[in-house]
Amino acid sequence: MQRYNGGIKSPKCLLLCMQALQILRAHALRQTKCRVEVLQYFLRASQAQTHADLEASLPAYDRVTLYRTLNTFEQLGILHRVMDETAVLKYALSQRKAPHAHFRCERCQTTTCMDVAVPAIALKPGYEVHQQALLLTGICPHCSQAGAARAQLRAEV
Ligand SMILES: [Zn+2]
Ligand SMILES: [Zn+2]
Repeated sequence: MQRYNGGIKSPKCLLLCMQALQILRAHALRQTKCRVEVLQYFLRASQAQTHADLEASLPAYDRVTLYRTLNTFEQLGILHRVMDETAVLKYALSQRKAPHAHFRCERCQTTTCMDVAVPAIALKPGYEVHQQALLLTGICPHCSQAGAARAQLRAEV
């Protein structure tokens, strides 16, 4: 099987491709074109992504291939599931080791991984915790800046 060069077009692209290949190497995964492109997509994304987002951005691959790729990455801990209040499952790169908080913006509807660890919660004996999630909702910096700029414009008129 030929190695894939990631479809390198620019230095930024090259950097993402190198990072993607490094992740695959670190997990002893075969370097397929689909895996490299999916990883590049997540490396580029600053927010959690749905399967539909992925499908729309990588139309060259069918649903099943993308599902399989996501599953592999999730099982190996390369990606993690992001739970937010929407019913749609989202994924993000697992660059933060510990369970961390997520922020859901009510305005632009994005969900972002936060550099904030989920605090340890002590439960009574008998409870076995399998998953711990902390979701914060509100307005993201991008939207609050846009709101402030609009208010300023109105004040100036
Ligand atoms: Zn927002
Ligand atoms: Zn996250």
